[in-house]
Amino acid sequence: MQHKSDVIVIGAGAAGMMAAIRAGKRGRSVVVIDHAKAPGEKIRISGGGRCNFTNIHAEPKNFLSANPHFCKSALARFTPADFIAMVDRHGIAWHEKALGQLFCDDSAKDIIRMLLDEMRAVGAGLHLGTEISGVDRREAGFRVSTGEGVFEASSLIVATGGKSIPKMGATGFAYRLAEQFGLAVLETRPGLVPLTLDPGLLETVAPLAGISAPAEIRHGKTAFREALLFTHRGLSGPAILQISSYWREGDEIVVAVEPDVEISAHLKTAKQLNGRQSAQTALGDILPKRLAQFLVERERIAGNMADLPDKALQRLAASAQNWIVKPSGSEGYRTAEVTLGGIDTAALDSRSMETKTVPGLYFVGECVDVTGWLGGYNFQWAWASGFAAGEYA
Ligand SMILES: Cc1cc2nc3c(=O)[nH]c(=O)nc-3n(C[C@H](O)[C@H](O)[C@H](O)COP(=O)(O)OP(=O)(O)OC[C@H]3O[C@@H](n4cnc5c(N)ncnc54)[C@H](O)[C@@H]3O)c2cc1C
Repeated sequence: MQHKSDVIVIGAGAAGMMAAIRAGKRGRSVVVIDHAKAPGEKIRISGGGRCNFTNIHAEPKNFLSANPHFCKSALARFTPADFIAMVDRHGIAWHEKALGQLFCDDSAKDIIRMLLDEMRAVGAGLHLGTEISGVDRREAGFRVSTGEGVFEASSLIVATGGKSIPKMGATGFAYRLAEQFGLAVLETRPGLVPLTLDPGLLETVAPLAGISAPAEIRHGKTAFREALLFTHRGLSGPAILQISSYWREGDEIVVAVEPDVEISAHLKTAKQLNGRQSAQTALGDILPKRLAQFLVERERIAGNMADLPDKALQRLAASAQNWIVKPSGSEGYRTAEVTLGGIDTAALDSRSMETKTVPGLYFVGECVDVTGWLGGYNFQWAWASGFAAGEYA
């Protein structure tokens, strides 16, 4: 079967659906092709099923890229307020959690339904369960060969995401296609991912698995203050996921639990006020009890506070607030929320996401070398870059 349209979008995820909506609103005939059985699968599982669909503080500084300026134009032309307006138009209730993160009150499925309704309203076609066997450039555009026939269009928007969660159908398709068309692809790596510890260290922290505490995690000049979670594989929680996007194999990170409390000062005061209590009890006033016990045992500190030299208390405080850790690795694409790196932004026009060397070919969303922090930033990039391509395709 032969399908002809103005625009083909490959990938019915966040970026692809937004691109289709925008192109359709401009009167372009659009088809969206996806090999998955359902659209927006990552939207469905995102934000614990409630989809952290944007962040009201989204700014270019919240994104990692070899060219930190690249994302500015698209982010400025489709803002969190623009997406909120769409959500409101569809009567979807939402709330703000900490740090400007917006979630659906009810279900992430509301966002998928909204995008599908918008696509339907502009007459965009959707072909699910459609395997792509090849993409060729034709004189007047592109030809996409699939199990459901051949699709032809003058513009092709590639929105197939990154490599994270291969179980959900992530394929690396966009990178291979970019290479087919001679575009540079920067090294990809898992981002927003738990970090693992070597077996020796893991054994010592094993008793802490399941414990969570507010923390500041530092890597060089970058620091995030969010929750830290000890797991049976290593370290996780939002603060670790955030720093993981900056961390490289062999690097150290610095962990400070309860960063808003000066633990050394607290211990000193505790010693003055009640010298008969143990350091574990004093530390347990601030930290989860099991963590306090772990730190005291690790520093081999025993006895009443009154009998402990200030140096010992300082050592204990440093072990809680200046813990230098060398993770052995990350959990990889199996659990990573995003893929860092990808299609080199130098190959793309930042206003339209169109490739500079292949007119009519666009790349949007996660496959591009723009990666957001945790907290709704990645969807905002997907919406904004999809919108930008849909505006020009
Ligand atoms: C568990 C989890 C939770 C997350 N939670 C959040 C959150 O709350 N907030 C946030 O901002 N970000 C979150 N993210 C990140 C966010 O999901 C992604 O950044 C975003 O989905 C990227 O959008 P995209 O359209 O570029 O790619 P995707 O949403 O991955 O869509 C790509 C589409 O392309 C299709 N595809 C892939 N390969 C092919 C192929 N060869 N042929 C045809 N179709 C193909 C896929 O089936 C898919 O439908 C989360 C990610 C994960 C894994």
